[in-house]
Amino acid sequence: MKSTVFSSEVPKDTQLKIKQALDTLIYRIQNNKAFSSAIDSTGATLSETIFGSIKGVGIYGNTRNDSLYSPQLINLHAIGANQYFISVAYIGNNTLKAIVNFEAAIHANRIIFSIPLFYLTRNWKIKKVGRITYHYADNINMKRAAIFNKKNTRIAKKLGLPPENFDFYLVDDYFDILKLLGYAYDSETAGHENDGFGPVNGYIFSIMHNEDFSHDVFHYYADKVRTHSRNSAAEEGIAYSWGNAYYTDEHGEMISQGHLVKLLKQYLLQNPNASLLDLFNKNPSILPSKTKVRSLLASLISDEVERRKGISGIKALIDCGHGDDNYFKVVNQLIGINVVNFNVEEKRLLDNYN
Ligand SMILES: [Zn+2]
Repeated sequence: MKSTVFSSEVPKDTQLKIKQALDTLIYRIQNNKAFSSAIDSTGATLSETIFGSIKGVGIYGNTRNDSLYSPQLINLHAIGANQYFISVAYIGNNTLKAIVNFEAAIHANRIIFSIPLFYLTRNWKIKKVGRITYHYADNINMKRAAIFNKKNTRIAKKLGLPPENFDFYLVDDYFDILKLLGYAYDSETAGHENDGFGPVNGYIFSIMHNEDFSHDVFHYYADKVRTHSRNSAAEEGIAYSWGNAYYTDEHGEMISQGHLVKLLKQYLLQNPNASLLDLFNKNPSILPSKTKVRSLLASLISDEVERRKGISGIKALIDCGHGDDNYFKVVNQLIGINVVNFNVEEKRLLDNYN
């Protein structure tokens, strides 16, 4: 690996050792060779997942192999006894793709690497709420934490799965998450906001410091019961109902299905000629944050499926296959709603909510 000019206070022979070990690690990742022996045992599976994404040079890039960008060492400094912080920039064609940070430790002459999460959060507080271990720098909302713990158990049990334990890091925004994971900069996600990360390898990173991650926890468990590819309308609908609408409002509260139902009713009062099928198909931005009217309408359908057909109906919905045609085929079989009667039937469902 090339190195940009910077003067590190780390002794030259140590620098060389670390650089060689890092070169080996990156080479093994790029060439699909095992690298777990170079990973610190703390959070090893998460470190392995995130390091795997270096192959495509981006937090979501682990499936690609991006050889256009070459790594350059841009920083190396000590953060403790035999403990170091390293920054690597991926640059190609005068373009910065990403800056990735690593923590390295020298143990008995061996160098082991980790994502910076555990070092950066070493002074954070920890609170266990049921199956969820929250990690936070300053504050936690225990009411929301208790709600999420309950939902985690409830969603798993509804789908007939064992509820899992999670380590949940409460982070203020998306870029704080990326920094903890080691992406100081990632061109693919630059400019994004209001997002979370996980569940991955038993870890969750919050959406805007909110304790309730039940929307994506539903997707996580649904993934385990699904045998076909994901149907986004079907799953978003259930995720909106069993979890929440994923995004937070201006007060940092999770936006709920109930709140969105009220907003949709207001919209329909102001737009009496609006077609619910058009809203479903075209999904215009009529709801706050990045919440979707299509997913809200699908959540009314999934509630009706659950009410009339129970969990076997929900599982049929999850497994209906890709695309709207498959979705409507199964919804029609389950509760007789289809594109022909959608406007009337959805309106009837909507009227059941306060
Ligand atoms: Zn979703």
